[in-house]
Amino acid sequence: MSAFAFVQFRSPDGQGVAKMFEKLNRFWQTIGGKIAAVVIIAAGVALMGYNVRNFTRSEGAALSGERPYICAETGKTFAYKIKMGDTFPVESPHSGKRTGYHAEACYWTKDGKIKPEPTYVLLNKYLNKPGPTFCPDCGRLVVPQNPPGIPGDKPPPTQAEYKPERPEL
Ligand SMILES: [Zn+2]
Repeated sequence: MSAFAFVQFRSPDGQGVAKMFEKLNRFWQTIGGKIAAVVIIAAGVALMGYNVRNFTRSEGAALSGERPYICAETGKTFAYKIKMGDTFPVESPHSGKRTGYHAEACYWTKDGKIKPEPTYVLLNKYLNKPGPTFCPDCGRLVVPQNPPGIPGDKPPPTQAEYKPERPEL
């Protein structure tokens, strides 16, 4: 059967190719084809979900649209969902004032390993403070859209290791 299909495919008059497309078309029209389509779509959705989860590292937060925020006054973190018309900083439930800033997650430890629960860090940049931000827990560099730690990656530099590529503007 497979040898026959091969011969058909290779036939110079294109009949084999046409037959193949016809077969493919019939396949998509069958229930099996429909199931295959659903499986492909489901895989795509699952992959998208995985990316979102990778980004936030929290399934619950990803589903509700909440993001980690940090209160500049108390240093405490909270989850916040951006609403239409919000301006920054947002109101912090800890201070009752507009001292809530987007928090960057740091997954590194002092000895360059990855921890499952991140430390949430408030970037100097958001407070209009000069200079890079170093994590208060591990002392390593934290940047906007801080990348999650991946095992085997070189950990971000500590303050002592850090050499700016160009002078601070
Ligand atoms: Zn850290």
